[in-house]
Amino acid sequence: MNDHADEPAAAIGDGTRAVRAGLPEPAKNEPPLPGPVFAAHFHLPGDVSGPYTYGRDTNPTWTLLERAIGELEAPGQDVDTIVFASGMAAVSAVLLSQAGTGDTVVLPDDGYQALPLVREQLEAYGIHVRTAPTGDDAQLAVLGGARLLWIETPSNPGLDVCDIRRLVDAAHAGGTLVAVDNTLATPLGQRPLELGADFSVASGTKGLTGHGDLLLGYVVCRDPELAATVRRWRKIVGAIPGPMEAWLAHRSLATIQLRAQRQWTNALAVAEALADHGDVTGLRYPGLPADPSHKTAARQMRGFGSVVSFTLPDRAHAERFMAALHLVEDATSFGGVRSTAERRGRWGGDPVPEGFIRLSAGAEDTDDLVTDVLRALDAAGTGV
Ligand SMILES: *Cc1c(COP(=O)(O)O)cnc(C)c1O
Repeated sequence: MNDHADEPAAAIGDGTRAVRAGLPEPAKNEPPLPGPVFAAHFHLPGDVSGPYTYGRDTNPTWTLLERAIGELEAPGQDVDTIVFASGMAAVSAVLLSQAGTGDTVVLPDDGYQALPLVREQLEAYGIHVRTAPTGDDAQLAVLGGARLLWIETPSNPGLDVCDIRRLVDAAHAGGTLVAVDNTLATPLGQRPLELGADFSVASGTKGLTGHGDLLLGYVVCRDPELAATVRRWRKIVGAIPGPMEAWLAHRSLATIQLRAQRQWTNALAVAEALADHGDVTGLRYPGLPADPSHKTAARQMRGFGSVVSFTLPDRAHAERFMAALHLVEDATSFGGVRSTAERRGRWGGDPVPEGFIRLSAGAEDTDDLVTDVLRALDAAGTGV
């Protein structure tokens, strides 16, 4: 529970909220953010009451982090947050705890690359899966009778956007629950619960924590009964975050607004520079006014994210571009303070062209980053 929920919480700015999110009331001689609590079990004389009993069920370091994430995802609202060992632990916890044999689940067909693996598992348990693209709210057409709708917006790596409120209204009218994967936007960029979703689910590995030094996932949910079913799933599967990771994540949250604002500025600047380059096709960034996602994104997002995607003429061209970058590291994942990019086709999982690049803008100085990207593009074009 988000004990600190009160009216002023919704009124303050994102940066003000972020630097204090989840912190306990100041107490003399105590640190602002208590250190990680390493405990498999807690002293428990007599009956088994009290918040902390066994380390797979609860941990005080998680409690503070869960409060912080809840404050960012749904300021001023009473919500439940459950942290997990990774984004996929959180994704699977919602899908597998909410759907049972004979139920139908609707997934995007252009979502995160591990979703098809989850689909296979759902089908192995006798759960029916329907898919449709994220763009044009195409999932609307396949909602009928579904138990759960899974939305990923903006989608990774294609950066299509769907209208969360519109999909939620249609889903709820038919008794369908809605979960939104909020990884790419982060709670600074988008608040799915305010748009009516039942669950906001994300990987905390990416922009939420931003330093590329931990894996984490979370689920935020308004309905305590739904939250209890997800919490129970964590208990029986045991997909819990380590206290050190939870503490590092909480420490990183204090700077989320600083990081996000610089990264969004950098992503837009890179996208604008790419838009004018002759070797670039298929450029996508929801913050570009000409982008097909822009209208919907501008309505429901508070920031357009750190990820830009585009296509170079072929695989060799894309590999030359990657090799010529100095400030942008060749690595997967996104949302970190150091810019990264990769030729996405090297994984073989996403339906993308061979020359497709996913670039995540970091917190470097904008001019340095744009200069590096343009210089690498020129080098790649001449075959250097
Ligand atoms: C990375 C990612 C995940 C999975 O998160 P992990 O922390 O790597 O398990 C889920 N959804 C999206 C959109 C992602 O980008």
